[in-house]
Amino acid sequence: MGTRAVVARPTPQGFTGRIFLNDGAPYTAMSVLRGFVLNVQEGDVEAAARVLIDEHPGGWIDVPDPDCRGRCLCHDAPPVNGAASTEPTTEQTASEAEYVYVLHPERLAVLVPGDDGWEEIRSTPWSD
Ligand SMILES: [Zn+2]
Repeated sequence: MGTRAVVARPTPQGFTGRIFLNDGAPYTAMSVLRGFVLNVQEGDVEAAARVLIDEHPGGWIDVPDPDCRGRCLCHDAPPVNGAASTEPTTEQTASEAEYVYVLHPERLAVLVPGDDGWEEIRSTPWSD
């Protein structure tokens, strides 16, 4: 736990999405996100993005997976001192994140901060 990351959809400039606070390292997060897209949303990447990004503007403590509906910062556990930020997290504002997971229509990409902005370190197709 404690690895802060972002789940996002691609934009022409980079990405836009929401933070999640726990289990953001690739080994866990890629498997959780693949399970959510493929098993919970039956492979509908856009439906998954709507849940993960649009329906929970506060972001997540734990993103949902096939075994758990997740815990969000807007409905389940709002911050004690006021509302969660509802600003989307983008390539401009994701500086606290160690990883970004971009839900492309055909693949899941993993980005890390590099010298020249965000660098893609892994990419895996949704279906193999
Ligand atoms: Zn919520």
